Amino acid sequence: MIADNLKNVNLSISNSCKKSGRQVSGVKLICVTKEAGLAQIEEVIGLGYKNIGENRVQDAVIKHRSIGDRAIWHLVGHLQTNKVRDAIKIFALIHSVDNARLALKISEEAGKIGKKQDILIQVNVSGEGSKFGIEPGQVLPFFKEVSLYPNINILGLMTIGPEADDPEIIRPYFRKLRELRDNINAVRSTQYAVRELSMGMTNDFEVAVEEGATMVRIGRAVFKDDK
Ligand SMILES: *Cc1c(COP(=O)(O)O)cnc(C)c1O
Repeated sequence: MIADNLKNVNLSISNSCKKSGRQVSGVKLICVTKEAGLAQIEEVIGLGYKNIGENRVQDAVIKHRSIGDRAIWHLVGHLQTNKVRDAIKIFALIHSVDNARLALKISEEAGKIGKKQDILIQVNVSGEGSKFGIEPGQVLPFFKEVSLYPNINILGLMTIGPEADDPEIIRPYFRKLRELRDNINAVRSTQYAVRELSMGMTNDFEVAVEEGATMVRIGRAVFKDDK
């Protein structure tokens, strides 16, 4: 079942890449396992999908005890400062950094264990009050401030699309995130570019890929009908 689901998801990603003239190698599939058990995680890893997304640090700590570094762990959910110490031990990439205090804490704790933590800045592109993330207008100043912290690497931006049945309603928000990333790269003068765009979930990953997603975070479409 999971193998078929993955095949279908990959087919959709590949179609979206064709439509938009992109390479499939530029899109990383992150299997979001917040509702999946260990056996299911083992199965996707066995099929070659090592990027695993969790949205709660506590859950990831438990799963990490069994799976360890056979997976590449992504924190896609909100992070509280009191969970940072546990988070940086496990996660290769934290997608949800949305305030300077949190970023500073990550940098401090990463420094203590000799790590440089990769992060994404979460942006609330849709402006929905229920969503975490910094406002689009604050992305550039936030980036400038946080990029000074010594033990974090900002790899890109992340967003969660607005609720909508029609993906065409969601598309402009993904486009906006891409523009925000391109703005950062246009004004900054360091050597490396901010590349990643983490956007697209089960309901909207096709348009996200068409708009330039480099990481899609997919749960239900991978694990459906498997229980
Ligand atoms: C749950 C979750 C996903 C995956 O959502 P699906 O609709 O199951 O694909 C992606 N991103 C975040 C932040 C999530 O919490």
